[in-house]
Amino acid sequence: MRAHSGLLMQGFRVLCAVACALVVSAGTVAAQDGEGVKVPRKSIFNNLVSADSVEKSAALQYSQMTRQAFQQRKLLDANDPRTQRVRRIAKDLLPHTKKFNDRSDKWDWEVNVFDSPTINAFCMPGGKIAFFTGIIDKLKLTDDEIAVIMGHEMGHALWEHARERTAKVNMTNIGSRVIGGLLFGQAGELVGAAGSSLAALKFSRNDETEADLIGMELAARAGYDPRAGITLWQKMSKAGGGAPPQWLSTHPSGQTRIKTFQDNLKDVMPLYERAKAARNG
Ligand SMILES: [Zn+2]
Repeated sequence: MRAHSGLLMQGFRVLCAVACALVVSAGTVAAQDGEGVKVPRKSIFNNLVSADSVEKSAALQYSQMTRQAFQQRKLLDANDPRTQRVRRIAKDLLPHTKKFNDRSDKWDWEVNVFDSPTINAFCMPGGKIAFFTGIIDKLKLTDDEIAVIMGHEMGHALWEHARERTAKVNMTNIGSRVIGGLLFGQAGELVGAAGSSLAALKFSRNDETEADLIGMELAARAGYDPRAGITLWQKMSKAGGGAPPQWLSTHPSGQTRIKTFQDNLKDVMPLYERAKAARNG
């Protein structure tokens, strides 16, 4: 997987995907309002790199990526049903992000869908979200599943995992190297042109657990069924077939992620039931 698009895809993995694994269970820091998931806030490293610089770099890279995609006719139009659907779900989740990052309501959130067969999605620092048509179409995602993926990717941005990774590897040029420039390959596949240091910036398993927990709560608070995290991972495992997709071949622990969802549902189901009742009532 590495030779052809591996290096390039590292960029996406940094920004993260639905791809990764999780193993470590979360700690015990209570949420501010006492409800929802328990996600410990760590990261003394974040003091080494300002949030502002990481978010500015991400915004620049995201604008380059979308411009390039537009030129290559790989950026779905705002009127495309998939773009409208993903944006609607993002809009539902956004009011609930502030609990996890009090700067998030100042972010200039953007949501775009890129025409690429890759099964992936990400949210850059500062709220720059990308979904690939591959993940929507190949997995035949329900709205609930899109919400769980969206929440997961938002979780990485809200919990500032990229900033933490950046600080940890002590990079001097945050911009292009952390975020990774993105290009379209000859086969028309959306790929990231990343520097070699990106491999070191891959999110940790603990980061993935945190993103899953934040994601399931965001989905629940927005009235999307957090149990979709389970069906989502069942679909992903099946999508592998005889040739596991990159995200499974590198982090083969879909079962572990499903268990995380199952173990933490009790913390978010009341939020979901309440949101659903409010919507229907
Ligand atoms: Zn992730």
